[in-house]
Amino acid sequence: MEATAEFVVESPDVVYGPDAIEAQYEYRTTCVSREDGVLKVYPTSTRFTFRTARQVPRLGVMLVGWGGNNGSTLTAAVLANRLRLSWPTRTGRKEANYYGSLTQAGTVSLGLDAEGQEVFVPFSALLPMVAPDDLVFDGWDISSLNLAEAMRRAQVLDWGLQEQLWPHLEALRPRPSVYIPEFIAANQSVRADNLILGTRAQQLEQIRRDIRDFRSSAGLDKVIVLWTANTERFCEVIPGLNDTAENLLRTIQLGLEVSPSTLFAVASILEGCAFLNGSPQNTLVPGALELARQRRVFVGGDDFKSGQTKVKSVLVDFLIGSGLKTMSIVSYNHLGNNDGQNLSAPPQFRSKEVSKSSVVDDMVQSNPVLYASGEEPDHCVVIKYVPYVGDSKRALDEYTSELMLGGTNTLVLHNTCEDSLLAAPIMLDLVLLTELCQRVSFCTDADPEPQGFHSVLSLLSFLFKAPLVPPGSPVVNALFRQRSCIENILRACVGLPPQNHMLLEHKME
Ligand code: NAD
Repeated sequence: MEATAEFVVESPDVVYGPDAIEAQYEYRTTCVSREDGVLKVYPTSTRFTFRTARQVPRLGVMLVGWGGNNGSTLTAAVLANRLRLSWPTRTGRKEANYYGSLTQAGTVSLGLDAEGQEVFVPFSALLPMVAPDDLVFDGWDISSLNLAEAMRRAQVLDWGLQEQLWPHLEALRPRPSVYIPEFIAANQSVRADNLILGTRAQQLEQIRRDIRDFRSSAGLDKVIVLWTANTERFCEVIPGLNDTAENLLRTIQLGLEVSPSTLFAVASILEGCAFLNGSPQNTLVPGALELARQRRVFVGGDDFKSGQTKVKSVLVDFLIGSGLKTMSIVSYNHLGNNDGQNLSAPPQFRSKEVSKSSVVDDMVQSNPVLYASGEEPDHCVVIKYVPYVGDSKRALDEYTSELMLGGTNTLVLHNTCEDSLLAAPIMLDLVLLTELCQRVSFCTDADPEPQGFHSVLSLLSFLFKAPLVPPGSPVVNALFRQRSCIENILRACVGLPPQNHMLLEHKME
C-alpha cells in the first residue's frame, strides 16, 4: 500500500491558517479522590486551543561526540538518504532508508474509510515537521578524526556505502571539545587530541561561540544540541554547587566541579538551544533544569532507549499487563565498541546500570494486585566489553514470572542489537519532535495566555531509557503508553480525538 502523506481535517474546530494550524480540542480525563474508603472518579473536560506554526525552519543539529559511532552513523545515514544512495551487499543491493525512526517509518491510523478499513499515514504527516534530509550537522569531539575516518573507525556501515560517503564526510571535522578526564574512563585518554583549553568559564564561552558560529555560517533558523558522547560518571548534586541556576553558573565561573556534559547543557540553554542528553549520567542537574525553565528552553533525557531496554519496556508491560507476576529480570550485555570500552570502568558502568534499572518501576507500581507495597522483581544488569563483537551488541535477557497455582514462566531472549543503527534513528526522532514542540503553543478557556510545553520535554519519553519529567509528574516507561502520548498529543494539535482502538463500528450487528 502506498503511504499517502497529505490529509486535511474537515471540522469547524480546525482552522488551517497561512501561518498556523489552530485546533479546538476537548481534553477528557478524570480526577480521582479517596472519600471514606471509596475511590470517587470524576470525569473532567477542559477545552484547549492548540496552535502549531506551519513554517518549518532550517534546522542545525550539533552533536557532542560527533565522531563517535552514533554521531558518525547518524550523519552518514542522513547523507545516504539525501543522496539516495544504494550499494551492493552479499544479500543484494540495499537502499538508504530511515527504518527505526518513529516519525519517518512509523504510521498512524486516521480512521476508517467507507469500506470500514483503516487508513494509515506516516507519523511525520501528522503535522509539519523538518525533513531529516534537510538537517545540517556540526558538532564537537575530543577526537580529531574527520567524519569519514570516524565512520571507518566505527565499523558500522557496509564498505560499499562507506566508499560512496567518504568524499562527502571527509570535509566534516569535529570542533575541539571539553575533556575532563575524571568523568569518563581512563581508557578514553588516547582519543583526546582535540581539546578546548582554558578555564571552565572560557570553555563555556567557546562552546557558546561555536553554536553562534554554526548558526550564522550555515544560515540556520534554529540549532538543537544533542549529547551522544561517552557516558560520564554521575556527578554529585551538592547544595551551593549545582542545585540552582545561580549556583551552577557561579560554579562554572569559579572553576569548581562541573561535568563536560553539564557545561554543554548550560551553553546550549544560554544560547536558547534545546539540549538533549543521550547518555545516562545526570547531566541535567537541578541547576541546569532551573536555568532551562528560566530561559524557556527545552531539555530532554536521559539515555537513548534503543535495544535491550526498549524490549524490556515492552515485555514487562506485556507480562504485568496480562496479570503475570514477573519476579526476576536478568540482563547481560556484551559489546565491543568504544562505548563498551568506556563502560568497562566501574563509575561509568554505574551510570548505565542506574539508567537501565528504573525501567520497570512504573509497571510494577501500576499493579497492586500482583505486588505488595514495596515489593519488586529482582533486577540485575551486567555489561561486559568484548572487542570482537564491535558495534553489534548482544543483549541476553531472562524474565521469570509467577503463573497461577504455583507455576513459573521463563522467557529467554537473545537480541543482536547493531547498536548505532538502532540509536541513529532515535536521535533523528528526538531532534525532529523537539523542533516540532517548539512550534506548538496552547491555551485553555480558564487560562487564555498561550504557553508552550514544560521545559522538561517529557513527551520524548518514548525515546529515552530513564525519561526526565517535570517535578511531580509520573514517569512512564511502558513503551506503547509513551508512543500513544506522542501520537495523541500530535492528533490533538489537528483536532483529532485520541486513538482509542475501540473499533465500535465493527462490533455492532
Ligand atoms: P562512542 O564511544 O563511539 O562515541 C562517543 C564519542 O564521544 C567518541 O568519539 C568520543 O571521542 C567522544 N567524546 C567523549 N567525551 C567527549 C567530550 N567531553 N566532548 C566531546 N566528545 C567526547 O559511543 P557511541 O556508541 O556513539 O555512544 C555514544 C553515547 O550514547 C554513549 O554514552 C552511549 O552509552 C550512549 N547510548 C548509546 C546507545 C546505542 O544504542 N548506541 C544507546 C543508549 C545510549
